[in-house]
Order: sequence, then C-alpha cells, then structure tokens
Amino acid sequence: MLRQERKVGTVAVIAHQRKTIGGGLDELRRLLAEEGVEDLLWHEVPKSKKAPKQVRKVLKEGADLVVVWGGDGMVQRCVDVLAGSGVTMAIIPAGTANLFARNLGIPEDLPEAVRIAFHGESRKLDLGKVNGEHFAVMAGLGFDAEMIKDADRGLKDRLGRAAYFWTGLRHVRGELVHMEVKLDKTTWFEGEASCLLLGNVGTITGGIEAFDDAQPDDGWLEIGITTASGPIQWARVLGRMSAGRSDESPFVRMTRARKIKVKLAAPMPYELDGGAKGTVTELKAKVVPGGITVRVPVAAPEEDDRTVEHPGDREHPDGRADGRS
Ligand SMILES: [Mg+2]
Repeated sequence: MLRQERKVGTVAVIAHQRKTIGGGLDELRRLLAEEGVEDLLWHEVPKSKKAPKQVRKVLKEGADLVVVWGGDGMVQRCVDVLAGSGVTMAIIPAGTANLFARNLGIPEDLPEAVRIAFHGESRKLDLGKVNGEHFAVMAGLGFDAEMIKDADRGLKDRLGRAAYFWTGLRHVRGELVHMEVKLDKTTWFEGEASCLLLGNVGTITGGIEAFDDAQPDDGWLEIGITTASGPIQWARVLGRMSAGRSDESPFVRMTRARKIKVKLAAPMPYELDGGAKGTVTELKAKVVPGGITVRVPVAAPEEDDRTVEHPGDREHPDGRADGRS
C-alpha cells in the first residue's frame, strides 16, 4: 500500500467538548505529537454552533489540515465554512451520529482515525447546499426532520443513532403537505407529500440505507419523496427502506438532480445532517461538486468500487420496534 509522505504543516483541531472517543482529547494530543505535529491550533467548543467561528479563525491562521472532533452536526458546521477553501478536513468520529465518517470508511477508533487523518488520501467530495447552508450527509424536509425534532437528548444518548428512528416511529403522523418540486427547473412532482430527502451519501438516519447508489463524488444529489400517510403505509415504507428496497415502494419516488426547488403550501421543518434548521415554505438546494476535501482511508488497489460496505450498518430498525414498549 502506498503511503503518501507529506509535510504535516499547520494542524488545527476543532473539538466538540462534550463528545468523546477512545482516550479522549488527551489521547488525541499524544497521537498528534507522535505524528510530528509541531504547529498546532487547538479550539474546543461547548456546542457545534460555536464551531464555524473557530474554523474561520484557523483558516485565517493558515491551517493546512483541519481535524474535526465530533459527530455529523459538528462536521456539518465545519464543512459549511471549509467548503470551497481547498483546505483538507479530517474527521475524528466522536459523536453520537457519525454517518459521514461511516460512509467514508473512517472507523470509530481514535488511533485509526488519526492515522487516516495523516496517512489517508485526500479526496474531493461533493456537498449539498440548502437555503445557503452546506451539508455532507443529507437534508430532510417533513417526516425525517420531525424525527430529529422529536429526538430528545436523553434518548439520543441512550440509544445512539437509532433514537432518530425510534422517536420517528412513535411520532408518525403522516401529515401531508402540498409540494411542488422542480428538478433542474422542470416540475418533477406536484401533489401531497409527507417527506422529502436529499442524500449526498447512501446511509442516512438510523443506519437506513436510503439511497442505494449514492456516491458523494458524482456531482449529483439523490432525492426521494414519500407520499405515505398514516402508520400502516409508513410501516411499509420503513420496512422496505430497512430491507434496502426503498425505490420499490409505491409511496416513494426517487431520482437524482443537481438543482432542486421545493415550494410548500404550508410551513415544514427541515434538517441538515441531523440538526434541526427551522421551518420553511421554500427550499432551494443544489449539489456543490468537489466542495470539500476529506482525508479518507487509502483505497485498497483491488477495489475499484470506492464504496465501503459496513456490515454493522445493516441494522433492522423495524425489528427493534418490537421491544419498544
Ligand atoms: Mg452524489
């Protein structure tokens, strides 16, 4: 395997204080020292909302590599600033939901994640942009955003990623809202829908494989819309999604696009990468090709398909529902 030797340069750590992995931030400092880091910028934030300011600061200070310590929410806040900067980001998946890292094959293992940060390969990946803000994993309008909104912190801590799914099941209301969806300026859907998802990577909320062929470097965003209403229809949708057959459901339509414009007859909440972002009646989204450069594991030479399969992702959330009460 070819290991790229590179100058370490100025390394910036942007860390979410309340997230941890392995031996925590103390171990991270030791590992950075072992990698020969001399020029170190270190910023800890109490919540991911505070991260963008620190990222802007380290970009000004000439960071060559920005190491993000946290989950998807933290990564989302950081990529929003790093997008288009050309500065490489590394991810230490210390969060509750680490779907972006997981999709890229960065394991929840501190020494290994640090090794990838310094000896992995830099890959240019697409981002999505919704109403002016970048996301890395997915954007959700309606049902999925509701799930996130209803996931209380305690539940998220106890159940991890699955919390989104559990609370989602509990709160299925199947509210339908009239939507007009234009893809690349052409009307693609007009009617009542309950949920719209945009995906940059395949595995989303709760480990559900929502978009089978999603690639974060093909210049396209995946889009799915559901017209399901009521718990019975929803159970069918989720069952098919967890079985990896979301596109066969009569209540789900899927395709891909570069530009998406959604008009809603009534306000709906939306979320980016698992973080609630407010309520809107209009949503403008587009793909930002190659918007972020990320350190990822060096692809094994025999693999021409760069997608990494994670057997652990194949959970069966509908099976868990039995033990809910
Ligand atoms: Mg894509």
